[in-house]
Amino acid sequence: MLETPADQPLADSRRAVPRTDTVLAEPAVRAATERLGATIVKDAVRRAQDRCRRGELAPDEVPSAALASLPPTATALRRVLNATGVVVHTNLGRAPLSPAAVEALGVAAGATDVELDLATGRRGRRGRSALAALAAAVPDAGGVHVVNNGAAALALVTAALTGTGRGPRDEVVIARGELVEIGDGFRIPELLESVGGRLREVGTTNRVHAEDYRAALGERTAFVLKVHPSNFLVSGFTSSVELPVLARLAGEHGVPLVADIGSGLLAPHPRLPDEPSAAHALRAGADLVTASGDKLLGGPQCGLMLGAAELVEQLRRHPFARALRVDKLTLAALEATLTGPESPVARSLAADPRALRTRAERIRDRLADVVEVSAVETVAAVGGGGAPEVPLASAAVSLPVALHAPLRADAVLPVVGRVERGALLLDLVAVAEADDDALVDAVRRALAGGAG
Ligand SMILES: *Cc1c(COP(=O)(O)O)cnc(C)c1O
Repeated sequence: MLETPADQPLADSRRAVPRTDTVLAEPAVRAATERLGATIVKDAVRRAQDRCRRGELAPDEVPSAALASLPPTATALRRVLNATGVVVHTNLGRAPLSPAAVEALGVAAGATDVELDLATGRRGRRGRSALAALAAAVPDAGGVHVVNNGAAALALVTAALTGTGRGPRDEVVIARGELVEIGDGFRIPELLESVGGRLREVGTTNRVHAEDYRAALGERTAFVLKVHPSNFLVSGFTSSVELPVLARLAGEHGVPLVADIGSGLLAPHPRLPDEPSAAHALRAGADLVTASGDKLLGGPQCGLMLGAAELVEQLRRHPFARALRVDKLTLAALEATLTGPESPVARSLAADPRALRTRAERIRDRLADVVEVSAVETVAAVGGGGAPEVPLASAAVSLPVALHAPLRADAVLPVVGRVERGALLLDLVAVAEADDDALVDAVRRALAGGAG
C-alpha cells in the first residue's frame, strides 16, 4: 500500500490494534462466543478494532469495548415497551405473549412429543393438546385446525373449496362492502383470487340484501364468505345480511358459509360488544370460522379454523395444508394462551382506567424533579385492525416531545410512545405495571442524554 506521510500515524496505530485472534482468545470473549456465536462476536471485535484504529480506544480497551457492544441475545430484535396506547400494535409484533406462553415456548424449543404418543410409542396427532384446548374453548366447533395466520386460513379454505380454481365450483360469493384491505397492502379479494377463487361480488359498497346473495348463488358457488370489516366502519345508509340469513341461503344451495371474524375473540367480550366472536358466529350458522391468533386472543401468530368436523377434516387433509402448517413453538404458545392465565392483551382490555391514572401519577411524581411532566387521561385503542370504534379509557404520562426519539432509541429498553397535541404521551394501557420502574429509568436516561 502506498504510504503518504499523512497515512503514517494511521499505520502506527494499526500496528497497535490487537489482533482478532488475540481478542477472541480472551476468556470473557470466548464465553460470549459460546453464548452468542462467532459471527456476532467477531463483528463486535471488528467494530472495537476500528475504533482503536481511529484512536478512540486504547489497544487494551478493545476486548471490553467489544463485549460492551454485544447484544443481550443472539437476535437483533429488541424488547420494547409499548407505550403507544394501541393494545395490539402491528409494528410492535401484535400480541405480546403471556409468561405462561413464553415458558411453553421454552419447553417446545427442544425435542418434544408434539407428534408422538409417549404411552404407545406411536405417531400422535400433531399438536393434539393445543387443538384440544382450542376445541374446549369453543364447544360449538365440531372440528378445529390451526395454520400460520388468518390469511393462511382464508387461503386454505379457498384453495380447498374451489379446487384451486379448477373445480366445478370456483366462485366465492362476497359482499362488495367486505372486500377489505387489512394493512400493508394485504387485500382479502386479491388473496382469494391468488389461490383460484373467482369473486362473485354482491351488493354495493354500503348496502347488500339477502336477494343479492340469492341471485348470485348457483352451480359455480364454492362457498359464501362473510368478512368482518375489522378496521373501518360503514355508517349512514347501510345494510348487510346477518349470518343466520346467509346460513339459510347457503344451506339451501348446499354450500358452506365461512365467516372471517379477523380479530380472534373466541367468545363475546363485554368491552367490545360489536366485535364478532367464534362462538357467536358458529351459533349464528357459520359452517367455518377463520380468525387470527395474535390479535384479541393475545396468542402467537396463527390462523384459527373452527367449524363443522367434516369440513375441517377436509381442509386439514388438503395438500396445501402442509405448506401452512404451524410450528411446534406456535402450538405450545397457543395452548398456554388458551389454558393459562389471562394474556397481556386481555389484561389491557380489562384495565381499570383509575388504576392506570394512579400509576401515571406515581410516575409523574418520580420524574417531576427532572422534567416537565404531567399525568393525563387518554383514549387508547384496541388496534391490530380491530374494533376501530371502541375507545379504551386510559392514562398516560405527558412529556416534552423532544424525548420521543431518544426514548425510542434507548440502548437499554426502547420506549415507544405517541405524539398527541404537541406532547409525548407514554400511555400505560399496554405497559405492565411491573415495567413502570423500567419506564422511569428510560426517561431518566433520555434526559441524561441531553433531551428534554
Ligand atoms: C387481520 C385480519 C386478517 C388477516 O389475518 P392475519 O393473521 O394478519 O393473516 C384477515 N381477515 C380479517 C377480517 C382480519 O381482521
